[in-house]
Amino acid sequence: MQIEFSERLTQLPPYLFLEIDKAKRAALAEGRDVISLGVGDPDQRTYGVIVEAMKKALDNGDNHHYPFDAGVPALRAEIAKWFKGRFSVDLDPATEIYPLIGSKEGLAHLPLAIINPGDKVLLTDPAYPAYQAAVTFAGGKIQYLPLKASNGFLPKIQDIENAKGARAIIVCYPNNPTAAVADKAFYTDLVKVCTEKNIMIISDLAYSEVYFDGVKPPSILEIPGAKDIAIEFHSFSKTYFMTGWRLGWACGNPRLISALARVKSNVDSGVFNAIQHAGIAALNMDPAEIEDMRFTYQQRRDALVNGCRAFGWKIDPPGASFYVWARLPSRFEDSMSCAKAFLDQANVLVTPGVGFGKSGEGYVRMALTISVDRIHEAVERIGRILAS
Ligand SMILES: *Cc1c(COP(=O)(O)O)cnc(C)c1O
Repeated sequence: MQIEFSERLTQLPPYLFLEIDKAKRAALAEGRDVISLGVGDPDQRTYGVIVEAMKKALDNGDNHHYPFDAGVPALRAEIAKWFKGRFSVDLDPATEIYPLIGSKEGLAHLPLAIINPGDKVLLTDPAYPAYQAAVTFAGGKIQYLPLKASNGFLPKIQDIENAKGARAIIVCYPNNPTAAVADKAFYTDLVKVCTEKNIMIISDLAYSEVYFDGVKPPSILEIPGAKDIAIEFHSFSKTYFMTGWRLGWACGNPRLISALARVKSNVDSGVFNAIQHAGIAALNMDPAEIEDMRFTYQQRRDALVNGCRAFGWKIDPPGASFYVWARLPSRFEDSMSCAKAFLDQANVLVTPGVGFGKSGEGYVRMALTISVDRIHEAVERIGRILAS
């Protein structure tokens, strides 16, 4: 029998990193010393206090059963407390917070709950690829809002106002891949236009705690009226080096939360209780340790940006996230050939911007997930090929 893939699967866009993946595998197979600025996965281990909390929770048999859908009440209470402390926003732990098996899981499931086939959803271009897949699986139609350096890589409010019949918009600030940050003025305008136009706002705040120079990224829920139309996604992955653990949460509008909960209760049965207890330990960590995490990325950022500037590649230092979004050195025509040249000639892996959308062309993304020493080495290698 010929197994046919569903239309929804075949409608997914082609995977654009294929060529670069192939080149990387070939390089590694040849035993070349590849420095990867490619992956958005922190290189550090999860903090010891979180691992210890997990071990303790594992020994408690009460945690071995199906979790309640809405999760361990103590985790939701802890999230509410953390949110109040960080953003001065009150959340009702019973109706406005929901634990997730990583924020990507929630982002992927939400469109199934609120989007009908043919409904228009606004996505930024470039964007984190999971949004496109999520909307496609729900049968939604995507309209892209181009992000330009001239507008701080924020979508233009006018473009949103002009987008006829849009039902929802997904935004992510601090942004992956552009590392742009949104301020409260942008969110205020966004809430205003989306309220007028009946557009639900889906905000991805995975990088809320990875910020530099003391400038904290705001939550959209700080804006009056946001809770009427917005849901926000948070993640333990980047803040606490917990990418492999799969823990995040959704918060905001209770009706959006309950819609998501309804899909989830038919797909999964919640987050392993022990991991939820580890999450409580994470939220209670010494803030000084989180400050160290930021300091580490800031040092790496400065090593990369200053190193490249020293040989004439003008890169803007990002204000948040652990990515550097760099305009191509002038000799390269497109991001794919730049990434290919860096890999082939310098054994340095970067991500071509076009992989995140058409408007990502002209840029490469470099992840700060390696040590300062390795960044110095990568800078030296890139400098050598750009000088040749
Ligand atoms: C890493 C990342 C996520 C995260 O993920 P989890 O599923 O919580 O690990 C979500 N959004 C963006 C933009 C990311 O880069």
